Amino acid sequence: MYTCAQCAIQSCGQAAPEHLPGNCPMRDNSLMSRALEAYQLEENRSFYITASELEALGYCQWPRVKETIQLCLRMGYKKVGLAFCRGLRKEAQVVDNLLRRAGLEVVSVICKTGGIDKTCVGIPEEHKVHPGAFEPMCNPIAQAMLLNEQHTQFNIALGLCVGHDSMFYKYSDALVTTLIAKDRVTGHSPAAALYCAEGYFKDRLL
Ligand code: SF4
Repeated sequence: MYTCAQCAIQSCGQAAPEHLPGNCPMRDNSLMSRALEAYQLEENRSFYITASELEALGYCQWPRVKETIQLCLRMGYKKVGLAFCRGLRKEAQVVDNLLRRAGLEVVSVICKTGGIDKTCVGIPEEHKVHPGAFEPMCNPIAQAMLLNEQHTQFNIALGLCVGHDSMFYKYSDALVTTLIAKDRVTGHSPAAALYCAEGYFKDRLL
């Protein structure tokens, strides 16, 4: 089992890794070679290099939205998808406008597309946010299918719920990046709860 998150050595960040922990994943030379080979695949090579170059180009200067737009432009994409949460529809409109100003064609699909009540897929009435009321289900599979049908070259996930985002990633034909990770109580800044893990959020994390 690998435990990088608890590693105090972090030899992997050095030019000449040594003193590897006993369970260091770098000991699996075969796997590391296969991973390196995968970066050379046609479907990965330019995408990975372009994404990696962005890190240096805008290091500590560009916000993620600019990095996302620049990735699209530098990859030569013409048509991108925007799968967004209804709760962040204003933010989605801002992103949509920015993408269009950058010259991209944008296909956007809201999470509630379909307008189907949650109970239709087996969610118990009592587990709705407001039991007894019509509550449209989030529909990440449809969001992905609609963007697939439109042949978007790259998809942006904006504010999809935990787990719903997973299903969107699963069903999207195009590669996906997440621009906003939904976190209602922190203003969509999940790391904020971690920064306060020993303080204000101490009793609210498990
Ligand atoms: S890859 Fe190896 S050296 Fe790097 S954090 Fe993981 S266990 Fe530590």
